[in-house]
Amino acid sequence: MQLEFRETLGERINKHSREWLKEFKLQAEMGDVDGMIWYAKLLFKGNKRRPPDAPHAIYWLRKAARTNHEAAFRVAKIFLKGKYVKSDPEKAYLYFRIASLSRCKCGKYSEELHSKRISNVHSCIHNESLEAIKSMKLSDADISRYEVKFISWKNDNLK
Ligand SMILES: [Zn+2]
Repeated sequence: MQLEFRETLGERINKHSREWLKEFKLQAEMGDVDGMIWYAKLLFKGNKRRPPDAPHAIYWLRKAARTNHEAAFRVAKIFLKGKYVKSDPEKAYLYFRIASLSRCKCGKYSEELHSKRISNVHSCIHNESLEAIKSMKLSDADISRYEVKFISWKNDNLK
């Protein structure tokens, strides 16, 4: 009996990864946002037959970012750190601003939570995005320039 299970764990994960890749690709192409995020995750990871494909992964994350604030936040961090891509403060700003459109749900303790005077179990993407922008220490001129880009993104992508 054991002989039938000779494939190693790595091989099995790889096989599943290929199936998941196909499945999530389909979902992503049909416009499913969770599918896009999962597909992006798998593309970042790659598998035995397919090396990681960061440009493609970022393409799908950026698409997901139109409606998913966590995806926007991830894209922003990628452009901020220059991980996988050349560091690009303009794009980092754009995606942090998109992420900052998420609602703060911290309620009456928001001040304490945002200033980390009390610890939060859940992250607040709204506030973390604004904090990240602050920590970029952009000049006023850059901020005005980037803000124009953000507003035009908003007009193109959100009703
Ligand atoms: Zn908050």
